[in-house]
Amino acid sequence: MLQYNMYTNRKPGDEMQLKDVGEFNFIRHIQDNTIHDPSTVITGIGDDCAVYSAKEETDQLISTDTMVEGVHFSFHYMKPYDVGYRLMTANLSDIAAMGGTPRQIVLSVAAPEYVDTAILDEVYRGIKDQCAKYHLNILGGDTVCTEGPMVWTVTIIGDVPKGTAIMRSGAQVGDIVGITNYVGYAATGLGALSYNLDGYHMTKVGHQRPDPQIELGQQLRQLGIHSMNDISDGLGSELNEIASASNVSIVIEEKAIPLHEETYELAKYLQTNPVDYALYGGEDFQLVFTAPKSLLSKLENLAGITIIGEVVSGPAQVQMVTPDKTIKTIEAKGYNHFHES
Ligand code: ADP
Ligand code: MG
Repeated sequence: MLQYNMYTNRKPGDEMQLKDVGEFNFIRHIQDNTIHDPSTVITGIGDDCAVYSAKEETDQLISTDTMVEGVHFSFHYMKPYDVGYRLMTANLSDIAAMGGTPRQIVLSVAAPEYVDTAILDEVYRGIKDQCAKYHLNILGGDTVCTEGPMVWTVTIIGDVPKGTAIMRSGAQVGDIVGITNYVGYAATGLGALSYNLDGYHMTKVGHQRPDPQIELGQQLRQLGIHSMNDISDGLGSELNEIASASNVSIVIEEKAIPLHEETYELAKYLQTNPVDYALYGGEDFQLVFTAPKSLLSKLENLAGITIIGEVVSGPAQVQMVTPDKTIKTIEAKGYNHFHES
């Protein structure tokens, strides 16, 4: 129980626990600041279902993500605000990976009855800040007590113009492979934090408050790319997903992978291989995509895009050409929660 108090400003004894506030009052309390695009909302929080209207000529996107305390986050090393912020980023990133626009969420929380509601408020503040930034509505949810760890689940709804969602399965032989911004960025920040290192300001924030690539995802869709995936489990894993969904071979160039200078710095300090942060480090929430070669100059004009390889015929696999021209097969091992322990 004590761990929940470390991020609240309340004096000992002043905690308001979920069981004292009650579900009804809690819901009333979090209802403020939930609607950022009223034009699509018919009824929000308060009825058996929310009612929203979807634009004609769109396909609807829906996805869900869960964060379990002790598995995906811990209040020992994450602020409650950052838990909410990151949960939203994970969901928004799935919409970004389809080239979509996020519209609505519902969220459910399971928390111990003795939890200080100031903690829940902070998680909600992180969620709401991201919702405000992307004009998303919080249309409802569920609140339950549990004797187990805290569990937060967000279901997100978005849309794309009809028939334009970008799938993992669309890669074609002859495509070029691109990624957005830096990869291995969040893993660098996590490494710096866990070794208690000074500096590493950029990547520490990248780990604590990663942002989704909604705008770039939409721009890439509009250009006419063939396939896309978001990088939540490391570049190696995500490229393998595209290769197997599309049944193609992907070859990337190690020295083309964009790494931040802090990644090189940390790798040097820890005597590790910097590219491993990109291939196997999780939660960058950048995008990896394949596109016809004819788009090359348009892609080069977009800020934050780097071409790292190409799609070739052959078995569904990912290979990397190292600076000394050795060819390595990149396994799908990424940041996978089921394989950690
Ligand atoms: P029901 O019994 O019909 O499921 P609830 O009492 O669970 O209704 O919820 C009442 C209203 O509050 C519903 O609109 C529901 O979507 C919303 N709600 C409940 N919990 C949350 C939450 N944690 N966040 C946002 N909305 C919530
Ligand atoms: Mg309910």
